[in-house]
Amino acid sequence: MAEARIGLVGLGVMGANLALNIAEKGFPVAVHNRTTSVIDSFIADAGPLADNLVGAESYADMAAALTPPRAVIIMVKAGGPVDAVIEDLKPHLDKGDIIIDAGNADFNDTRRREAALRAEGFRFVGMGVSGGEEGARHGPSIMVGGAEEAYSAISEIVEAIAARYQDSPCAAHLGPDGAGHFVKTVHNGIEYADMQMIAEVYGILRMGDGRSPESIGELFADWNQGPLQSYLVEITAKVLAATDPETGKSMVDVILDSAGQKGTGRWTVIEALKLGQSPSTIEAAVAARSWSAAKALRETGETLLAAHDAKDTGPKVLDGDLERALLAARIIAYAQGFALLSAASEEFDWTLDLARTAEIWRAGCIIRSSLLDDISGAFRGELPGGSLILAPAFVRILGDSVSALRRVVAQSSVAGLPVPALASALSYYDTMRLGRGTAALIQAQRDFFGAHGFGRVDKEGDGFHGPWGL
Ligand code: NDP
Repeated sequence: MAEARIGLVGLGVMGANLALNIAEKGFPVAVHNRTTSVIDSFIADAGPLADNLVGAESYADMAAALTPPRAVIIMVKAGGPVDAVIEDLKPHLDKGDIIIDAGNADFNDTRRREAALRAEGFRFVGMGVSGGEEGARHGPSIMVGGAEEAYSAISEIVEAIAARYQDSPCAAHLGPDGAGHFVKTVHNGIEYADMQMIAEVYGILRMGDGRSPESIGELFADWNQGPLQSYLVEITAKVLAATDPETGKSMVDVILDSAGQKGTGRWTVIEALKLGQSPSTIEAAVAARSWSAAKALRETGETLLAAHDAKDTGPKVLDGDLERALLAARIIAYAQGFALLSAASEEFDWTLDLARTAEIWRAGCIIRSSLLDDISGAFRGELPGGSLILAPAFVRILGDSVSALRRVVAQSSVAGLPVPALASALSYYDTMRLGRGTAALIQAQRDFFGAHGFGRVDKEGDGFHGPWGL
């Protein structure tokens, strides 16, 4: 008997919370999990929401429970498991039914799956969901890719479960095939950069200044009332205030300093390089996570290298400078992320709406911040050179804050404190404000050893060669 509006496969952390969110919004949802014992316990623990949950022990049961045209969300581990679920599910679906991958898929997989399923008569939607467990349960930011008419069929449910920003749902159809998953990947790349820059500022205060985690937490809480207001600054303040119940020490001090990564930051960098882009703040953040994993090397380095390092503590970095440095670097990270979205949109013919993308990131997602209103405003207005750093609002803020970033990077370097993401943000900014840079020398070198040719400032064309004395 068809009684559910939508199906959901995968009752892990994200799937279970998303199913409860859908049920709470009044849509009956049929749920299935590979390990079927999870299904009954999930429904048993759902309280009154159980009335809107239909347990499906098999894909055949799920198909029977859904009102046609059927729509099934897959929320399982990305990669092979998604293909496996699609293959097992397909025989129970009819042409025109909709399969929605809501995990963190590689957008290349989404493009492949969308084309293959379309050829078989199914509709496939790649849906990026951000906000972690809490977002999935109470309102994530949702980035959708796929055929527009497929989205129309599910938009009522998607927009009902999404986070809201001033009554507007943080969910949108952004483009065909892999557009939604690509935007989600870049969202995560910006998240990597922002987290890394926050960690670098923490490092300056902790290792450079010797301040306690609690007092640094108070500073972040204070900054969260100003232009740095954001989810990541807010949770940083909370993390730094937390105490380990077992040891009574600051929680951050008992956590191993090797950062994990599941791949979305790396994918952002790989796809950027393929598109001729270089989001250096994101690259720096991915690199810093990899370096953090080299724990044994760093411990040996602390003994062998520090002895030879003429480290100077340098002048003290002012709190106000750190706040403004973080603001400038955050703007540059967003600018690099959006430049990448723009390049992908052109390459894949997506016509991504960048203003709308910024709008759906204003609530529910991990990189939500007060800057996103200005970012969407910048994309709706005149944007010289197409870059956020040249939008009038950001030219002003950067003008007020880059000098602080300069001091923070310089003083950290003197003190021997690593700030790879902050430094790369500054170098990007300094490169973008040089109408004539140093690449003429690179071109000359390339021509010298490889006769690659170059363009001249005073003539048309690009096949010129230098008088290299050959
Ligand atoms: P979990 O590890 O909590 O759950 C994984 C789910 O995948 C389980 O239901 C598991 O079933 C199922 N699964 C794994 N392998 C297979 C397979 N071969 N066939 C069928 N089902 C399988 O993962 P999350 O809920 O954290 O993540 C799910 C997706 O959401 C991932 O793509 C993740 O990247 C993405 N995501 C996660 C976020 C987070 O904060 N956790 C945020 C945004 C997106 P079983 O119980 O049988 O093992």
